[in-house]
Amino acid sequence: MESGKKKLFLASERGFCSGVKNALALVEKVLSSQGKKGKICVLHEIVHNDSIVRSLREKGIVFVEEPEEARGASCLIFSAHGVSLDVEKRSEKICGRIVDATCSIVKKLHRTAEDFERRGLAILLLGKRGHRETEGIAGRVSSPVTILQNVPEVEAFLAALPEKEKRETFFGCLSQTTMSADEVAKMKELLRKDLSRLEIPADVCYATKLRQNAVKALAEKCDMVFVAGSEKSSNSRRLAEIVRECGKKSLLVPDPETFVLPELASCSAVGISSGASAPEEHVRVLVEKILKSGEFELEDPWGGSHASS
Ligand code: SF4
Repeated sequence: MESGKKKLFLASERGFCSGVKNALALVEKVLSSQGKKGKICVLHEIVHNDSIVRSLREKGIVFVEEPEEARGASCLIFSAHGVSLDVEKRSEKICGRIVDATCSIVKKLHRTAEDFERRGLAILLLGKRGHRETEGIAGRVSSPVTILQNVPEVEAFLAALPEKEKRETFFGCLSQTTMSADEVAKMKELLRKDLSRLEIPADVCYATKLRQNAVKALAEKCDMVFVAGSEKSSNSRRLAEIVRECGKKSLLVPDPETFVLPELASCSAVGISSGASAPEEHVRVLVEKILKSGEFELEDPWGGSHASS
């Protein structure tokens, strides 16, 4: 029987990906094996999530931006985003014990970049400049890497490239795992059309793709979608952008506890998703806040998968 209440939907795919789960498990493992003996450092935030970083700090983890800041530490942990060869070498000089929590999918991209370099291919990387993962991939090789951030940059790159190079140069193309799957597909299509000798290995992160597809499906049936995740998290920002591209409202929610719900009177259905670095607990807090108004009911409570990679 219809209750007459407005609907609250959850994205069928959301939250922690396998890369984040593995990285957090590694940190916990080091913490429990080492206890209070010696300083444990993590290079960069292990995941882009303030509450997780805060709780790890409380357990004694020290986050550093450069390997040199970890001098004297008994263990230095790399985050899931991976690091450049230079950072890896500097870290090994500074600290006797390195624990590498780089996601296996990102590692595969490192190996492919190295393989492209060995075979003399010109390397193209579809990703955001300055993002840790992009810096890490580009920094695995000493050859120049051309970073292309979006469709207009691909168009400008192709327009500036001499015809002879388009025909004769062997190119290898990689992409950052948290980019929009749709945008990356468009960028690759343009490159394929113009470059005769282009190699694009399958380098999809299914966690990213599944979450992006799920948030699109959510946007279709909701007026507003909340995305639990930090501004610093590129995959969370992408989820919110995808909702807006579908013509619906979206808000990123870095801290659901302090989050003040906007006016939802004009919404007949709202949705919740979460980035790959947001714990499921954040989704639960948001659900409780929305249900508290008494106007909404949760459809398919806690259904779907929120743990896929
Ligand atoms: S988003 Fe994908 S590539 Fe990135 S850490 Fe998660 S599983 Fe690995």
